[in-house]
Amino acid sequence: MRKRELERLRKLLEGQREQLVGNAKRALTGDIHLDPDDFPDEMDAASSEISLAFTGRLRERERHLLAKVDQALAKIDAGEYGLCEACGEEIGIKRLEARPVAELCIDCKAEQERLERNIG
Ligand SMILES: [Zn+2]
Repeated sequence: MRKRELERLRKLLEGQREQLVGNAKRALTGDIHLDPDDFPDEMDAASSEISLAFTGRLRERERHLLAKVDQALAKIDAGEYGLCEACGEEIGIKRLEARPVAELCIDCKAEQERLERNIG
């Protein structure tokens, strides 16, 4: 991978990281919530439960993604970024630009999804 491409992907990852950390902070201070105006009065209790469940799931998902972003950034620093974890081939710049946290090349990802479908 060219250095310029690597730097662009690092910027993408850092942007994603900032967004995730920002979201997490907002979720903690309660700025992320469902707008109460969207619900009739009798739904207030229920809607705050929905809101809690929603931010809980959001945090779970974001924590997971944040870990992946950190991992990808560490790999860039180590000079190991962009290689498939299964076969060791280059993942490909197009796939990485669409999904900078990708750990598998498109072939291995397709294979993994095929196996998951077979199990399910
Ligand atoms: Zn692969």
